[in-house]
Amino acid sequence: MQITRLRLTGFKSFVDPADLRIEPGLTGVVGPNGCGKSNLLEALRWAMGESSARSLRGAGMEDVIFAGTATRPQRDFAEVAIHAVAGDDEEVEVVRRIERGAGSAYRLNGRDVRARDVALLFADAATGAHSPALVSQNRIGAVIAAKPVERRAMLEEAAGIAGLHVRRKEAETRLRATESNLQRLGELITDQD
Ligand code: ATP
Repeated sequence: MQITRLRLTGFKSFVDPADLRIEPGLTGVVGPNGCGKSNLLEALRWAMGESSARSLRGAGMEDVIFAGTATRPQRDFAEVAIHAVAGDDEEVEVVRRIERGAGSAYRLNGRDVRARDVALLFADAATGAHSPALVSQNRIGAVIAAKPVERRAMLEEAAGIAGLHVRRKEAETRLRATESNLQRLGELITDQD
């Protein structure tokens, strides 16, 4: 999957709408301290379904909404859109929006979807909010010092099989529920005999 464009509005320091094209190849973000470089990476991870506010340097998820400055009032919502071209040359647009007091909502090509659908879409494409492809400043040391089991998770993520683990876990949960229903049914049949 190739991410081609990132649009943000009201996300952290990006109070005004920003529209960034991401060309093929290596992309570097440069600028003075505090200009919003890490916020850009966090916008990508957030739109991919990041559910931990702490990993976005906030106390709660609403902290991603522009909080206001001495000269500009706070915003009531934040929205980030990722445009990407999937493996089969299909264009996808994923939008995550959060409103104060109303939580997050996701859209995939204009259709309302669940957080899980977005997370699986990126996991299947070998990327995602926790992908080692997105290395923020404080993660560099962690990647170098990763334990073998953590390295394996990175390789699985890169191979695009992370989504299979999620599906397996869900299938196991459904299987356990079905087994318990069957057992209950068996007991009811025995009671009636
Ligand atoms: P450095 O090079 O020092 O790591 P950086 O370019 O990565 O900096 P960021 O950490 O992305 O910069 O941006 C920090 C800026 O974002 C700070 O000025 C901070 O006040 C601002 N900021 C973060 N969250 C919000 C928010 N919710 N509302 C408004 N501004 C915010």
